[in-house]
Amino acid sequence: MNDYKLLLTFSQLHESHMAKGYLNSERIAVFLKDEYMTQIHNFAANASGGVRMYVSESDYDRSIELLKKGGFIISKNKQKKDVIQEISSEYSADPTTCPFCHSDNFTITKEPNFAMVINLFMLLFASVLPIVIPIYKKYYLCFDCGKKWKIIKK
Ligand SMILES: [Zn+2]
Repeated sequence: MNDYKLLLTFSQLHESHMAKGYLNSERIAVFLKDEYMTQIHNFAANASGGVRMYVSESDYDRSIELLKKGGFIISKNKQKKDVIQEISSEYSADPTTCPFCHSDNFTITKEPNFAMVINLFMLLFASVLPIVIPIYKKYYLCFDCGKKWKIIKK
């Protein structure tokens, strides 16, 4: 175990097993630590640090590359793309084009507002009067550069 290096941690057991199977198929030996701990106390997985995945030091770099390729590790740039950026209406004078790539191939879309979901739970199970928030959040999505934004009026 001495030359084994911590590769990744998972809060969900099944995710760690999917990654383990994927790396095993590429002939990389993987050790999972605390997998039974996470199984018994699955709601405390974040507190205990979750399932830790170890690989030998010689396989470490290749494992990282494989996990990126397999979609188990998402790069920060890709995560940033999913964030809805706030564009001031002063800067975006022309609402007919994307403010990032100036393409007109974009749409207005909606996704459920997470705060609204919590509110519904509160109403159903705790009978607490919810605060009125819109059910959906509206944002723009560009098909060409994949960026999301909403326009803030000032
Ligand atoms: Zn764009």
